[in-house]
Amino acid sequence: MRKLIVGNWKMNGKPSCLAKPQNFDEIYPSQDRGHLDIVICPPSLLISGMEDICTNANIQIGAQNCHYLDKGAYTGEISVTMLKDFGVKFVILGHSERRAMGETDKEVSLKAIKVVKENLTPIVCVGENLEVRKSGHALKFVSEQIKSSIAGLSKGYVLAYEPIWAIGTGVTASIDDIRKMHINIREIIGPDVKVLYGGSVNKKNATEILQVENVNGVLVGGASLDMIDFALIAKAAG
Ligand code: PEP
Repeated sequence: MRKLIVGNWKMNGKPSCLAKPQNFDEIYPSQDRGHLDIVICPPSLLISGMEDICTNANIQIGAQNCHYLDKGAYTGEISVTMLKDFGVKFVILGHSERRAMGETDKEVSLKAIKVVKENLTPIVCVGENLEVRKSGHALKFVSEQIKSSIAGLSKGYVLAYEPIWAIGTGVTASIDDIRKMHINIREIIGPDVKVLYGGSVNKKNATEILQVENVNGVLVGGASLDMIDFALIAKAAG
């Protein structure tokens, strides 16, 4: 399965960052990475200015969220059709930082269905918090979260396992924990859906993580802001 390397810039970026995809391409030229898919998910304000730069650099653009309706009185929201008009191909959904703001599994699944219907690819995030991990119920928790977050979908999406306690903390899940969780996830979603690992992936740990069975790529937060680091992570995919 082709590996997928996704950078989530979260609420970071300014107009000068529009050149970053070009910088990435200079460090890791597109002709050397035909075996990989690279996606950058900038804040939505930067999406339109990045469309041509990403196309030239053979990098795809992702969004960090969307609404499940096309238009209407939803102040502050962005619809999938709007994202599509600006060249977006992927949408991160159900990130733990959004779930912490109240997003539910039901909303994630409505959004995921809408994204697939518009022929874009949702990257649906799941993952347990530290309390669940310590209680020994992480596999069960994540299984249930997957079932309700992708309810109504059998294909056309990417799943990202992101243990909450590993996001932005510098603490990565152990290779054994990643392996066990990804085997569990594979049993639930079948052989065709890509499964990414996310949680403090960096240029030092990427090679080992990307070699774990059933890890089809990584979702990178902090380290994706630095194009040298992000390129080294992508190179680690082999
Ligand atoms: C993320 O934002 O999805 C993430 C994994 O962040 P970080 O790589 O900074 O832990």
